[in-house]
Amino acid sequence: HRTGHSHFFMRYDAAIIEQKRKQLFISKALFHAVDNQQLYLHFQPKFDLNQRKITSCEVLLRWEHPQLGNISPVVFIPIAEREGQIIELGYWVIHAACMAISNWTQKGIRLDKVAINISGKQLSHADFIPRVEALLAGFDIDMSTLEFELTESWLVDNIEESAEKLTRLKNAGISIAIDDFGTGYSSLSYLSKLPIDVLKIDRSLIIDISDNLNTQSMVGNITRMAHDLGMKVVVEGVEHIEQMLILEKLNCDVIQGYFIARPQDEDSFTRLIANADAS
Ligand code: C2E
Ligand code: CA
Ligand code: CA
Ligand code: CA
Repeated sequence: HRTGHSHFFMRYDAAIIEQKRKQLFISKALFHAVDNQQLYLHFQPKFDLNQRKITSCEVLLRWEHPQLGNISPVVFIPIAEREGQIIELGYWVIHAACMAISNWTQKGIRLDKVAINISGKQLSHADFIPRVEALLAGFDIDMSTLEFELTESWLVDNIEESAEKLTRLKNAGISIAIDDFGTGYSSLSYLSKLPIDVLKIDRSLIIDISDNLNTQSMVGNITRMAHDLGMKVVVEGVEHIEQMLILEKLNCDVIQGYFIARPQDEDSFTRLIANADAS
């Protein structure tokens, strides 16, 4: 039996070593991704339920590796966070988003907000806010164009640092969204200590909303509480019209998901909003 055990642990170790090896490989490849132009952005529209139109978007990072093909941010973002690469990667994303925003401005397209995912590690970086300010100033873009999406879990795990950093971002003019709300165990009243503008309800919370009354009342309650706290409610992962109709009834403000549009490259996103504007 002892040999059985050690055999198990050896196989377990081998699996860990194999995973570490893969992570190192991805991390190394990521170092060359920027220089070799393998990174680009996708944009996913956000639809305002009151104004009945697309008013903003979320920026999503994409990586196409010449040998490995498309690597999901779900895979490489956590590795970049662990290896510290997320800092420079994060500035690259903000810079690339600024280029898109100034392209839209030149075409006469104006979005209320462009939302960018920001990892907690980036916020912890001492120069973060001045560097973002310098980046935007270089493009003549107003700070109020940006919204930063921060995950619920990071904010809760670092509540004191969060309060300080978020206040500084707000003072600089940037809006703050809590991302993936509902996947952690925090309550809204706990988060209400932070200067948050937008609550983003996670996709997992609304998957069964069209045929589950409990889900409907839960999302209705979250929305009411968020509104009482002065936050807007965005719901992500809306894939069907039934979900949209219910979320409208529950007074949610904005929806995002495949039902409106998939994340897409700058050209097709530009065409999408230009056509929506004209109609
Ligand atoms: P997230 O911030 O929660 O982004 C939403 C994810 O849901 C995106 O996956 C998006 O493509 C997907 N999605 C949108 N609508 C629907 C829908 O109707 N149905 C379904 N099933 N999925 C939908 P994606 O692009 O693979 O990104 C995954 C995660 O990677 C993001 O989750 C975010 O946490 C992270 N990420 C992406 N770009 C960046 C970035 O620039 N910086 C950082 N720090 N994280 C990023
Ligand atoms: Ca997000
Ligand atoms: Ca999210
Ligand atoms: Ca999510």
